[in-house]
Amino acid sequence: MALIDNHGRKINYLRLAVTDRCNLRCNYCMPAEGINFVKNDKLLSIPELERVSKALVNLGIDKIRITGGEPFVRKDLMVLLRSLSKMEGLNDISVTTNATLIGPYIDELKELGIRNINVSLDSINRETFERITRRKQFDTVHNNLIRLITEGFNVRINFIVLDGQNEQDILPILDVMKHYKVSVRFLEEMPFNGGSKNFSTIKWNYKAILDHVATKYEFEKLVSPATSTSINYQIKGHQSTFGIIPSFSRTFCGTCNRLRVTATGDVITCLYGKPKANLRDIVRANENDDEMNSVILNTIGSRAKTGFEAQDEHAKTIFDNSMTSIGG
Ligand code: SAM
Ligand code: SF4
Repeated sequence: MALIDNHGRKINYLRLAVTDRCNLRCNYCMPAEGINFVKNDKLLSIPELERVSKALVNLGIDKIRITGGEPFVRKDLMVLLRSLSKMEGLNDISVTTNATLIGPYIDELKELGIRNINVSLDSINRETFERITRRKQFDTVHNNLIRLITEGFNVRINFIVLDGQNEQDILPILDVMKHYKVSVRFLEEMPFNGGSKNFSTIKWNYKAILDHVATKYEFEKLVSPATSTSINYQIKGHQSTFGIIPSFSRTFCGTCNRLRVTATGDVITCLYGKPKANLRDIVRANENDDEMNSVILNTIGSRAKTGFEAQDEHAKTIFDNSMTSIGG
């Protein structure tokens, strides 16, 4: 079965948030004091996450990215990953993490065949890292990142370019990573930070980042899958590649294949739109999946065409939201 939206786009990729909690306080994601984290009983349990995943896989999802909050703050995360790794029809499981807590789980992730790990790292300088994340975890993150790369995981580094905070690290991170098989992806900052900062333009947009890299390096554009959100490049002589994700400019909506389910069960059909339904109460009230399936099909049948259109649905309130609730 295939899930096709009302604009003819095939939806096969689920971003599943497993918690809204996090052990870091990245200043582009949430305020220093954190956000109003939801009560534990509002989060989907592991059996509920399995059930939602299975229903979506039956409908046509074949790729799931686990995100959050920080997925590994959830002590029972590996129970979910073990079960997903056995789920028929699910071909690709990946995790997005800040890499502070992943260390003890690396061997088991490998055994389960979970190879695609995105690591958020916005600086290679300890002080800058600690200023941005508001926590002292630089060594742990660095060690776990290198371990993941050298143990053969397919690692992509997510580096959000933040005006006045880490632009001085754009060229150095490419230099440090040139000996490793890794992809460094620069992201445009989005205003999902729990209300700590509001902005309607950004200095470090896609073009500014690319022009900056071009001041030092010559590179070639790589062929990327049609649904890729990053535009990718190869610098001559580097083992690593780099990419840019125009998340603020939103040039990738035409090929968007994603659906988001938050840790509380909200269904989000566009990052910039309002939640379209909630699956938690439906799952808790029904033993069979009929209602869940029909709600999912309805939400996919009424997706906004672009992030700009979706944003119009709820004017300014969207930017009170934090990425730790949405899942990135
Ligand atoms: N805690 C994990 C991590 O940081 O990788 C997973 C959750 S995090 C919300 C998912 C992704 O969203 C991360 O790559 C993070 O850098 C990105 N993100 C968070 N806030 C953002 C913002 N304001 N603009 C752009 N990306 C953001
Ligand atoms: Fe936590 Fe990830 Fe948000 Fe940073 S970006 S505060 S690591 S959820």
